[in-house]
Amino acid sequence: MSITSIDKEFVSGTYGRFPVELVSGSGSLLTGSDGKQYIDLGSGIGVTAFGFRDEAWMGAVTAQLGKVQHTSNLYYTEPCALLAKALCEKTGMKKVFFGNSGAEANECAIKVARKYSAEKKGPDCYTIITLLNSFHGRTLTTLAATGQDHFHELFQPLTPGFVHVPANDIGALEQMLGSVKAAGIMLECVQGEGGVMPLTKEYVQVAASLAAQHDIPLIIDEVQTGNGRTGSLYAYMQFGIQPDIVSTAKGLGGGLPIGACLMSEKVQYVLGPGDHGSTYGGNPVCCAGALSVINRLDDEFLAQVKAKGEYVFDALNGAEGVEGVSGMGLMIGIKTRKPAREVVNACLEKGVLCLTAKDKVRLLPALNIPMEQLSAAVEIIREACK
Ligand SMILES: *Cc1c(COP(=O)(O)O)cnc(C)c1O
Repeated sequence: MSITSIDKEFVSGTYGRFPVELVSGSGSLLTGSDGKQYIDLGSGIGVTAFGFRDEAWMGAVTAQLGKVQHTSNLYYTEPCALLAKALCEKTGMKKVFFGNSGAEANECAIKVARKYSAEKKGPDCYTIITLLNSFHGRTLTTLAATGQDHFHELFQPLTPGFVHVPANDIGALEQMLGSVKAAGIMLECVQGEGGVMPLTKEYVQVAASLAAQHDIPLIIDEVQTGNGRTGSLYAYMQFGIQPDIVSTAKGLGGGLPIGACLMSEKVQYVLGPGDHGSTYGGNPVCCAGALSVINRLDDEFLAQVKAKGEYVFDALNGAEGVEGVSGMGLMIGIKTRKPAREVVNACLEKGVLCLTAKDKVRLLPALNIPMEQLSAAVEIIREACK
């Protein structure tokens, strides 16, 4: 029996997989079980920030594996403490809670916002305002936060206390703040799953000042946009705001599961002993890998991410069959004349792995993808779009 057919028989059918079994990788190249080589522009959905078998990342992870792989949160470990310190020093945040995924980082963010507001204004102040077309995760609470109805069908009742407003509509946000007892505002600076849609700077800044006026936390979901993806350490840094809570995951671990919820001065003491927890959270191997990722995202490196993003934008914007290019840094959405899935399948055939987001082709290459591979892949995408 082939791996494909074993998987089809025994793995829950929640994913529409491409007909490819991947067996190994190196840098931004992946090899299939049939020996075919691919240039990877998806990085496992923005996760393998430095590609495959990156020496520094593997060194950090294997060194920790050689010491202790898990301790539980009953004890201190160095990688967890040092990663939290690095994240705080680089963002100005004060405390970090570690979980294992983006959804878990958002669950923590929502709990912090609700407890802050319950203590300040009373337990009926629990409603979190999020945006239509957002994506915040697959747990029942983060699904409720997600502003896309098609994810909600047949999973009712979801966690109550979430309302959605259209992105970039300041009036709608003001109106909602006037009509619900809000506990927080939550948004992605660039909506990823929603089709790589950046919010306007003005909107994000107004949302931040409205949150401050109402004394409710502003939560920025940086699960996809964070950790260098958009050309700054976190995307909010390009919007001129300082959030109260930041959630992140995906690229943070470089390929191992980790999520983090960063808390500002305003909310740093909201969670106390017993308020939250996660058995795997702060796992020393994941934290050691994440620390090596975070420490490499300096200004010089981030400038290269931006330059590569601009290169892709210029090469595809206005190309035949391309109706528009959106995004920031190396988080790129391409609106194609042909259905996105058709373009992605043609790229796969020619040895380039791409993603989709809504009706767009989405690219999330490794942040250190070599220029030659990036330009070769972009050429194949241009052909596929025609
Ligand atoms: C992927 C994603 C999530 C969910 O992350 P998981 O690790 O799959 O739980 C949440 N928010 C955003 C913006 C994402 O892109």
